[in-house]
Amino acid sequence: MLLGFGQSMGFHNIYLDFCWRIVGFILDSFLGATVQARFTCQVCGRIVEKRSHCGRETDHSSGLSIMGNDFVNFISSLFGATIAVLFRFSLYG
Ligand SMILES: [Zn+2]
Repeated sequence: MLLGFGQSMGFHNIYLDFCWRIVGFILDSFLGATVQARFTCQVCGRIVEKRSHCGRETDHSSGLSIMGNDFVNFISSLFGATIAVLFRFSLYG
């Protein structure tokens, strides 16, 4: 029995989606470990990813100050989605 065109497309879409989610996750981890900003809490002394902790502003300790956790997540998602779209168009036109 022949596999319908729709079924075949469905499988590829799920497979590609899975692949690019992993790409996004790896990029997220990579940026998180390298350029993501870390801050030191002035109250409890913990290293955190937020600009405020314990109700006070934190001190920038490492990474790029603009690369907050939300920004890293945004870049990773955008990159994963862009690659997925480009890859899809290169496969199916
Ligand atoms: Zn704190």
